[in-house]
Amino acid sequence: MSLRRVFIANRGEIAVRINRACRALGCEVVQAASAADLDSLSARLADTVVDVGPPPAAKSYLNIEGMVTAAKENGCDAVHPGYGFLAENGAFADAVEAAGLRFVGPSGDAIRQLGDKVEARRIAAAAGVPLVPGSDGRIEDPQAAAEVAEAIGYPVMIKAAAGGGGRGIRVAEDAADFERLFPQASAEARAAFGDGGLYLEKVITRARHVEVQILGDGRNFVHCFERECSLQRRRQKVWEEAPALGLPDAVREAMCQSAVDLAASVAYCGAGTVEYLYDADAQCFYFIEVNTRIQVEHPVTEMVTGIDLVEAMLRIAGGEDLPWTQDAIVCRGHAIECRINAEDPARNFLPGPGRVTGLEVPTGEGIRFDTLLYEGYEVPPFYDSLLGKLVVHGDDRRACLARLGAALAGLRIEGIPTTVALHQALAAEPAVLRADTHTRFLEPWLAQQFATRA
Ligand code: ADP
Ligand code: ADP
Ligand code: MG
Repeated sequence: MSLRRVFIANRGEIAVRINRACRALGCEVVQAASAADLDSLSARLADTVVDVGPPPAAKSYLNIEGMVTAAKENGCDAVHPGYGFLAENGAFADAVEAAGLRFVGPSGDAIRQLGDKVEARRIAAAAGVPLVPGSDGRIEDPQAAAEVAEAIGYPVMIKAAAGGGGRGIRVAEDAADFERLFPQASAEARAAFGDGGLYLEKVITRARHVEVQILGDGRNFVHCFERECSLQRRRQKVWEEAPALGLPDAVREAMCQSAVDLAASVAYCGAGTVEYLYDADAQCFYFIEVNTRIQVEHPVTEMVTGIDLVEAMLRIAGGEDLPWTQDAIVCRGHAIECRINAEDPARNFLPGPGRVTGLEVPTGEGIRFDTLLYEGYEVPPFYDSLLGKLVVHGDDRRACLARLGAALAGLRIEGIPTTVALHQALAAEPAVLRADTHTRFLEPWLAQQFATRA
């Protein structure tokens, strides 16, 4: 392992996760921490903590120059960006490399190309990957856009080219809707992402979200099978599984191969995810986007393949070749991840930061809890509300679900509201047990169970 000292340009559970991978490789850790995070678990676990600025992310975790300077001044030879914040910012990757450090992820150019969702569609199409029917390229003129929407057929999705994290997406049910929403979407995308570019996609009405984990070293490219992330609220994932549910072998093979083809077509370097929608009735899959970073739900893939993805990212950034051929990567058993947030499902998922007065974490065979929590920790109000991820593995889905029920019963977080009860209810829900869900299942179910609004 050629990396010696790694700068973690992130916070929360993923910073703790990256720290663990660094330790396993014998690397020292320098942790970026805003003023609100100096007492965080990731700060406590680091060799060196650097105060990178005030709590608001714009002044700390999103400050490119501040991050690069901190990494360089503290003798680091690589920067891991985690997810969110600067993880998909091409200028950040460029700045890290220009300072003579390794960016743990693909090149700035690859991030820009694939992070632009319109450009990614073009690249995917060129690699032979099937797309959701939609517009060719960006679409600006509202009149021309309305004609394209008509040709695609309603309902139509208006998506921001620079969107992410479930934001920048609108659904138009008909032409009147479209006329109203299109200018709004453009203005909002410009305000949120600094880029008003839009494109259109047909709405796949009863879709499953299935995504393929890829790894590349620039010369060799493999997939680590797929994840199912259909249980979503506001287009954000809540519960994820590996492998996907009820996927015919031929579909799985084609989907995984097309993700590898896409990776090869851009000489991909690092870990990434190719996201698809799967229409189970038609047995068709459609590309939606690429995420050029580690994903929140990567542990389910680690559980079924035995591969440490964050360690692989660090090795690749250190210049090593991929150590596996495709044949060496096998999927064993089943894994489920529950995202545990500091939110109250009974109060419309109102975030509830505050002090954790008690903490009991389930342990045992096939159980993993990736978290930023410790007893007595004060969850700050400035960042997203993910507290941790309960990840469980079993020989098959039935065994995994049984183990999950026991693990959830053994997870006790006191002092702040959490989504644990929501996961307990989901783990007992007949449609979930039957694997009969899709991307629009969870919101109406929540409205029934917890009287919440979507
Ligand atoms: P995943 O794709 O790993 O499932 P999420 O969609 O939950 O992850 O996003 C992970 C984190 O990154 C969340 O905190 C989300 O808000 C943030 N995020 C993802 N994409 C963007 C983006 N383009 N701009 C800002 N934040 C983003
Ligand atoms: P983001 O970059 O915000 O993650 P995605 O393009 O990955 O956006 O879409 C997020 C979610 O929105 C998907 O997982 C899916 O549930 C839904 N979605 C996106 N595109 C479509 C579509 N064309 N039809 C139906 N649902 C879609
Ligand atoms: Mg997505």
